[in-house]
Amino acid sequence: MTASSLFLLTTWVLKHTGPVTIPADIAASAPRAVTPIGAATRARATEVSRLLHAQYPGNPTPSLRFADPYQCVVAIALSAQTTDNNVNRVTPTLFARWPDVAALATANQAELEAVIHPLGFFHVKAQNLLGLARRVRDVYGGQIPDTMDALTTLPGVARKTANLVMLESFGRVCGIAVDTHVFRISHRLRLSRAKTPAQTEGDLCKAFPYEAWARVNFEMINHGRQVCIARRPKCSVCVLADLCPSAGKENK
Ligand code: SF4
Repeated sequence: MTASSLFLLTTWVLKHTGPVTIPADIAASAPRAVTPIGAATRARATEVSRLLHAQYPGNPTPSLRFADPYQCVVAIALSAQTTDNNVNRVTPTLFARWPDVAALATANQAELEAVIHPLGFFHVKAQNLLGLARRVRDVYGGQIPDTMDALTTLPGVARKTANLVMLESFGRVCGIAVDTHVFRISHRLRLSRAKTPAQTEGDLCKAFPYEAWARVNFEMINHGRQVCIARRPKCSVCVLADLCPSAGKENK
């Protein structure tokens, strides 16, 4: 990093980062960081957030289509190992046939598998959806729960899905959803050295200011699809290159 860019970075950080106020219940339930995250890393993460925000402006809007918390959790659970467009092609049929938790809880597994077959892993996904619907019916009165602790007790719902459901359905920022793009980019940026998505989330929650949590997933996914792609990342056109220890080292 050049002296001038370091000056700009420091100036921006001092101007824009005050004390981070994380709601107590969210701080208590967030995963712990496993990578040492000091002031320099936090300053670099803040600048990463600023640059990504400038590169991908606008409000994060989910590409999955859903109308309520039930549809939200089902759509996100189905999106594992497939694209959001594929899920959007399947869910209209699914939601027409099983419009709520009560209906899905009594679905025939073979019929459900037939509907979600194009998404892959249909057997496991059908089992999880049935288990999810039955648990919501039996334990949560038919209402999708609105806490991370409760959501992550549902079959097939890990922190990534729970974070997105909390954000999209209940408007609460409880963490940073770590998918394959977020995991790859945060490791290339050396913001995390964690082995698992949950541990990586703990590192990122410590590195980024709380104000940035809701956007990190959206912006890193965009960056991962367009620039920091899995194979041969486009470092020569990356706005993060000056901040990235991996710049130019992964084009093999
Ligand atoms: S510089 Fe390269 S490796 Fe680093 S974030 Fe950008 S595209 Fe990814």
